Amino acid sequence: MSQCRVCNSNYEPFINFGPQPIANGFIPEEKSNDEYFFEMKVGHCENCNMVQLIDQPDREKMFHGEYPFFSSLSKHMQVHFKNFAETVTTRFLTQNPNPFVVEIGCNDGIMLKNFAEKNIKHLGVEPSENVAKVAEEKGIRVTSRFFDYDLAAETRDKFGPADAILSANVICHIPYIDSIFSGVEKLLSEKGVFVYEDPYLGDIVEKTSYDQIYDEHVFFFSAISVSYLSEKFNLELIDVEAQPTHGGSMRYYIARKGAYQPAENVAKLITKEKELGLDKPETFERFRANVEKSREDLVGLLKKLKNEGKRVVGYGATSKSTTVLNYCNIDRELIEFISDTTPLKQGKVSPGKHIPIKPYESFKEDFPDYALLFAWNHRKEIMEKEGDFSANRKWITYVPEVQIF
Ligand SMILES: [Zn+2]
Repeated sequence: MSQCRVCNSNYEPFINFGPQPIANGFIPEEKSNDEYFFEMKVGHCENCNMVQLIDQPDREKMFHGEYPFFSSLSKHMQVHFKNFAETVTTRFLTQNPNPFVVEIGCNDGIMLKNFAEKNIKHLGVEPSENVAKVAEEKGIRVTSRFFDYDLAAETRDKFGPADAILSANVICHIPYIDSIFSGVEKLLSEKGVFVYEDPYLGDIVEKTSYDQIYDEHVFFFSAISVSYLSEKFNLELIDVEAQPTHGGSMRYYIARKGAYQPAENVAKLITKEKELGLDKPETFERFRANVEKSREDLVGLLKKLKNEGKRVVGYGATSKSTTVLNYCNIDRELIEFISDTTPLKQGKVSPGKHIPIKPYESFKEDFPDYALLFAWNHRKEIMEKEGDFSANRKWITYVPEVQIF
């Protein structure tokens, strides 16, 4: 029995992925004997409908001075965050002569730079110091700390209330969600909005994209659970917007209760979620069966190719790939190496299964028969870049099902 982080009800896991390492814990080969693992189990609270990790490693193990994820490396994400900033500005900030924007987990400043460039008052909160430094170099005001109620109160004292609090792919990382939401409630101005987006539970269930589940992601949000959570803090979900990022995300707009009339989209999405069964335990039993089938199909295919003497490499050493490799027990016997463009990962080995990570050039020079696409959420972008794949060289994906293409 575990206790729900949102409503304190007891709940049980519906799936156990076994021992998992830190998803972004790429390590030098010589240090690979001394690795941290935790039992990764996920449960659904039947009272508030929050889907969550049972246990999560200490945050210092995950977000530290060598965190290897820089959002701005992706052009696609640069455009996404520019649009995010513009949407919020147009909709909520234009009437305000001197708005204040806060971002929780600003990474390398990919979103806040759009406000900094317009001289809009802003503050980025980013605990990973190496990443925060990159944001500072772009002229963004950053505090290198974890966001919580105390930081929110300090920020309000120092800079005044926030008209917009933004966050992308961060809120789902934070287990002490009460302190986040009470902090937001403390910091928001009367008509202020809290806008955040995260991978969407509905997409994960529909696409069996279980690789969204890894140490950093403690919550898998839906409109149903976010409504519950907002109400607990006298806030209200006022709009939702589906996003294509990370293989299917949802953007949630939250304000003080009664500050805005909620858009029709909210009720519509909740109805859709109930049809999909995101409030029913059977749905997660079915999800588990689909995940098990996905593992069987993928391992079966890789073993078959190996027996045929084919070479398979991985494309994109994503955090997501850690769950797949460790849950399916895929090691360098089945995948020679994984190519990745992030210098911090290159020359190291993958967490848990210790598959070598090589630069992108290795992929071109040492071309495989099959490339397993771990960055499946960027499939369109990657296909445009790698358009010259010949007929006898193929891709493998596992979302929404295991498939050669
Ligand atoms: Zn609950």
